[in-house]
Amino acid sequence: MSNANTNTSKKTDEVAIQLNGVHKWYGQFHVLKDINLNVQRGERIVICGPSGSGKSTLIRCINRLEEHQQGDIIVDNIELTGNLKHIDAIRREVGMCFQHFNLFPHLTVLENCTLAPIWVRKMPKKEAEEIAMEYLERVKIPDQALKYPGQLSGGQQQRVAIARSLCMNPRIMLFDEPTSALDPEMIAEVLDTMIELAETGMTMLCVTHEMGFARKVADRVIFMDGGEIIEENEPEEFFNNPQSDRTQKFLSQIL
Ligand code: ADP
Ligand code: MG
Repeated sequence: MSNANTNTSKKTDEVAIQLNGVHKWYGQFHVLKDINLNVQRGERIVICGPSGSGKSTLIRCINRLEEHQQGDIIVDNIELTGNLKHIDAIRREVGMCFQHFNLFPHLTVLENCTLAPIWVRKMPKKEAEEIAMEYLERVKIPDQALKYPGQLSGGQQQRVAIARSLCMNPRIMLFDEPTSALDPEMIAEVLDTMIELAETGMTMLCVTHEMGFARKVADRVIFMDGGEIIEENEPEEFFNNPQSDRTQKFLSQIL
């Protein structure tokens, strides 16, 4: 993978995600501290930082897998409050891929991909299957459609998880360390899928330590530590000229 940023930014002036002064606590533990973040539609953001810095919590707050206690989170012009209609509306717009693929082991690849479109979107089965096959082709595993997740490699399972999210036609995709549970030889195939997705103009927020990916597709890299955004910059500046001591230390450990 070349390090050159493909510079095919599809960033627009429209705001996709907005966090204003967001705080979150787990009991007494202050896990997110005054997070301010604007993501434009079409923008690709990479979030990195040491383990325990709050990266997963931050992205899980964006689709309300976790609840924040202070500040505003606005996704696609919908404010995330306790209002269940708003939560549903946001979840319709936001797809998510995790480190552990969370596929249903007792369903085939195709069934994993059609389950939510059929049951949540009330889509006819045939149409759901056609769409699922299109996405399985996009992630280059249409031939695995009738297998079960356990019969696939980790890299293939993660690509199914990505296809499954895309079947719900999200406008925003969140990734939480999607390659960190994979063997090295499988990382590239998942990153390639994510790069292709970025090229379609999808708004993406990716927690990852794959700095080659960050250099190639990110419009911005955000560094978190201790529940705070410490630094953010375009990839070249971020890697070549990190400002804070903490960023420098982190980069020296992973690069
Ligand atoms: P990261 O993804 O950057 O590794 P996390 O967001 O998972 O960080 O976690 C940030 C901090 O919050 C860690 O110290 C973690 O132990 C703590 N934490 C995460 N989830 C919970 C939870 N459900 N209850 C209590 N503490 C949690
Ligand atoms: Mg995490």
